Amino acid sequence: MAIRKIITPPNPLLRQPSLKVAEVDDTIRRLIRDMFDTMYDAPGIGLAAVQVGEPLSVIVMDTADKEKGEEPRPLALINPEVVWASEQKATWQEGCLSVPDIYDEVERPMEVRVRYLDENGEEQERHFSGLDAICVQHEIDHTKGILFIDYLSRLKRERYLKKVIKRAHGRVPNLSQT
Ligand SMILES: [Zn+2]
Repeated sequence: MAIRKIITPPNPLLRQPSLKVAEVDDTIRRLIRDMFDTMYDAPGIGLAAVQVGEPLSVIVMDTADKEKGEEPRPLALINPEVVWASEQKATWQEGCLSVPDIYDEVERPMEVRVRYLDENGEEQERHFSGLDAICVQHEIDHTKGILFIDYLSRLKRERYLKKVIKRAHGRVPNLSQT
């Protein structure tokens, strides 16, 4: 098990578009395993490679509700791309492991169809709805350098960023002491 550090603002990597994966090899599969370990440990329902400092177009997700006894349904998507989005929108309260402890409502297409490569390098297409649709769009945004707070007003976004940066700075001395 390898849990990686999740980066937060103002780390400039979060704003950098991720590179497409040229070949799905063992290095990518190892990265995906680390990403699942990191996501489940956090815990979160989605994670993009850039959030662990690897600006590659790779995302993982698992929206199963363990508290309700649902079986895990891990899904890894390489070079994901939205190929269709519904006109109908949905609003969900979103959060992000890179913007810790901040939650706010974001409106997105209710359903999307995504083309991607699986862990064997095979091209796949999949239809997403409900929380899965929100999660996959949020993670694909990370591969483009977009954060969910970008959909909020500038005022809110700046307030949230200040909070995150201030809190991260507060943590540094604590960590070095222990
Ligand atoms: Zn996120």
